[in-house]
Amino acid sequence: MALRKTKIVATLGPSSDSRAVLERMLDEGVDVVRLNFSHGTAQDHIDRAQLVRELAHARHRSVGVLCDLQGPKIRIGKFEDGKILLNAGDKFILDAQCPLGNQHRVGLDYKTLPSEVGPGTVLLLDDGRIVMRVESVSGSEIDCTIIVGGTLSNNKGINRQGGGLAAEALTDKDREDIKTAATLNADYVAISFPRSGDDVRLARSLVRAAGGHAHIVAKIERAEAIDALEEIIDAADVIMVARGDLGVEVGDAAVPGLQKRMIRMARTQNKVVITATQMLESMISNPIPTRAEVSDVANAVLDGTDAVMLSAETAAGLYPVESVAAMHRVCKEAETVYEINNPRDLVNDEFKFIDESIAMATVYTARHLKVKAIVALTQSGASVLWLSRFHNNVPIYALTPEQSTRRKLTLYRGVYPYRMDIGTDRDQILAEAETQLLNRGAVESGDLILVTIGEPIGTAGSTNTMKIIKVGEHRSR
Ligand code: PGA
Ligand code: MN
Repeated sequence: MALRKTKIVATLGPSSDSRAVLERMLDEGVDVVRLNFSHGTAQDHIDRAQLVRELAHARHRSVGVLCDLQGPKIRIGKFEDGKILLNAGDKFILDAQCPLGNQHRVGLDYKTLPSEVGPGTVLLLDDGRIVMRVESVSGSEIDCTIIVGGTLSNNKGINRQGGGLAAEALTDKDREDIKTAATLNADYVAISFPRSGDDVRLARSLVRAAGGHAHIVAKIERAEAIDALEEIIDAADVIMVARGDLGVEVGDAAVPGLQKRMIRMARTQNKVVITATQMLESMISNPIPTRAEVSDVANAVLDGTDAVMLSAETAAGLYPVESVAAMHRVCKEAETVYEINNPRDLVNDEFKFIDESIAMATVYTARHLKVKAIVALTQSGASVLWLSRFHNNVPIYALTPEQSTRRKLTLYRGVYPYRMDIGTDRDQILAEAETQLLNRGAVESGDLILVTIGEPIGTAGSTNTMKIIKVGEHRSR
C-alpha cells in the first residue's frame, strides 16, 4: 500500500494534551506537532514537546516539533464585562490609554497604532469578523465607525486592511520564546509577520545565539511580505501560507491565487512549504469535514504543498483525532488523482551544485526507469531536500544517523526518514541500506533502487554519487 506523501502538521493545545489523545493522533499520522506560542506558558510547551518525543520514541518514529512565535499580533485590551456587542453605524474608540474597555472604547496593546492610522483607514478585528473605519485620530484615541458589527471580546486581534503597520516582526516576547524553543530542542521555529529577508535572518541568528539548531519557517501573513516574497523565501528554510492573517490583510479572494504562487515559488527555490489555517475548520465542532474543506485540502495537495496544517481543529476542537484521520484520508486520495506539474524543467535547466546535480540525475532516472525507491544516505539532509523538490511517485527513504536531520525531514513531501548508523565501508553501508528497505517491506528481491551517497563517507553536504542497485543481487557479499 502506498504511503501518504503529504505531511500533516497538528497544533497542540488543551484538546490534545491527554496522553491517550496524543497517542491516537500520532497513530493516525501526525508528522509534525506545532506548539503555538500565542497561548500557554513556556512550561506547557516544554512538557508537550517532551511527551511527543517520548511517544514517538516508543513508536520508533521521528516526529518534528515546530515552535510558532506569536509575533507582533496587535490586540485590543479587555472589557469590563468580557465582551460587547457592536452594531453597524455605532461610534467606537480605540484608545491606547484606556485601562478597561466598555461599550464606547477599549484599550490597545500596540501603543503606537494611533500614529500609524488616519481618516479612511479600515481596521479589521477578530480575523475580519468586525470591520471599522477610522474617522479621526487625536492623541491616544482613534475614533471609528463600525461598518460590520458583531460581538467583540477580550484581546481580539487587529489588522489594517492593505497592511503597512510598522510593528517589528520579533517582539521581546518572541526573543524570550526563542530561548524556550532552544531549550526544548525545536526542529523548526516559525516567525510570524516577517516583512523582509532581514527579519528572517535576524530570527535565524537569534535561534543560533540561543544554541538552537532549528530551521526557520517564515509565515507569509502580511501584505508587505507578498512584495518581498522571493527574498523571504530565499532567507527561510520553509514558508507557511498563513491564510488567516493574510486573508485579512490582502482580502480573502486573493488568497487561493497567492497560495498557488507561493507553493510554486517555494519549491522552485528549493524550499519547503506548509499550507495552513481553517483547512478543516468545521471539525472544531463536527466529526466530519464539509465538502468544501475536503476540496481545500485536496487542492493544496494538488498545488504541490509539502504539508497541510491543523490549528484549532486539534488544539481546541472536539475532534482532534478525527481531524487528523480526515487529513490523512483526503491527502492520500488526492495524491492518486494525477501527477502534479513540476515547475523545474530538467532538460534545459542549469545546475549550480554537485549534490543538486546528483539529485536531479536521480529524479530524472526515477522517471524513466522503473525503480521502487530512492534511498538517500545523508547527514544534513541537503540531498534529500533537492530530491524532494521534484514531484515523483517514487518514495524517498532518507537514512541517516542524525536524529535532528530525521526530525526535520518529517516535513518534506514524499520523504520517509529512518535511522541508520553509517560506518565507513561503502559496500557494507549499501548492504545495510538494502536490508533496511527489505525489512520494512519497501522493496523485494529483484527490484531496482536508486541510492545517493557522498564520498568520502560521513561528510555533510557531500552527495556526489548515484548508484543503481538491483535488490538482492549482491546478497551473497
Ligand atoms: P496564526 O498564523 O494561526 O498564528 O495566526 C496562521 C495564520 O495567520 O494563518
Ligand atoms: Mn497568523
